[in-house]
Amino acid sequence: MASVFTKIIQGDIPCYKIAEDSNFISFLDINPVKKGHALIVPKVEVDYIFDNTDETLAKMMVFAKKVALAIEKEVVCKRIGIMVVGLEVAHTHMHLIPMDVEKDLSFSNPRVKLSPEEFEDLTNRIRKHI
Ligand code: AMP
Repeated sequence: MASVFTKIIQGDIPCYKIAEDSNFISFLDINPVKKGHALIVPKVEVDYIFDNTDETLAKMMVFAKKVALAIEKEVVCKRIGIMVVGLEVAHTHMHLIPMDVEKDLSFSNPRVKLSPEEFEDLTNRIRKHI
C-alpha cells in the first residue's frame, strides 16, 4: 500500500507544500515540534533512509539546504536542525526543525498547534524564498 507521503506526492491528499522538483517534495509537518518544522521526502518510496541510492542521498541534502535557508528567512531561530526517525511513516524523510537549543529537537516536546490559516500563511511566506 502506498505511504501517506506517496499519496501526498500523487496529489491524493493535501499538504502545505513548500517546494518540489522531479525527485523530492517538501511540506510542513502536520504535527510540528516547532513552528516551521518541515519534511523533505524523496518521490521514490523507500522505507529506510540508508537503502536509498548515493545519488538520492546527495541530492536530498542539496534540496534540504534550499528549503532550510527559506525557513530561516521566516522563522526566528539560531539554525535549522536535521532529524531522521522514520518510525511512524515508512517512507524516507528528513525533518527540518528550527532550533535555538538542543532540546528543541525532541519529539517528546509538546507539539505546536497551528490553525489551517496559520499553516497556509507560513507556507506562503516560506515559499517566497525558494
Ligand atoms: P517519523 O516517521 O517518526 O519520522 O514521523 C513522521 C512525521 O510525519 C511526524 O512528525 C508526523 O507529524 C508527520 N506526518 C504524518 N502524516 C503527515 C501528513 N499527512 N502531512 C504532514 N506531515 C505528516
